Amino acid sequence: MLRDKTVKRYIFLREQGRCYYCGKRLNMKNATLDHYLPRSAGGPGQFYNLVLCCKPCNFYKQAEYPANPEEQMMELFRRGVEDGFVEFERPIGREQGRQLCAGIERIITYGKGRIVFQSGDYRIVAEENRVISIKRTR
Ligand SMILES: [Zn+2]
Repeated sequence: MLRDKTVKRYIFLREQGRCYYCGKRLNMKNATLDHYLPRSAGGPGQFYNLVLCCKPCNFYKQAEYPANPEEQMMELFRRGVEDGFVEFERPIGREQGRQLCAGIERIITYGKGRIVFQSGDYRIVAEENRVISIKRTR
């Protein structure tokens, strides 16, 4: 299990220390993490659904349903791969893994810390920030 602090530090760096919604500069202490797709709507508490957020934005946003939550999750997952935050379990080759993740085109399912993507002919399964399997589907 990844520690919350590790995830928060990564997201802080990814967002360059700014609130995702209003752009206000934050520090590690006053920054909160917001579920882009709210928890109440089944939004996972994973780096690909969390954004850095100031307290007022987090309060006012509440449980609003965002536009294109799946696009956002795919985008943040691909970004996590580019940033080297996503790891590949052996025997998945790092280069092949990176290439296939760059081509992620849809989400098959997600929940309980696990997400499944389709990328071309391949199905990619990730747990938290680890890709645990890549299988050809056709
Ligand atoms: Zn804000």
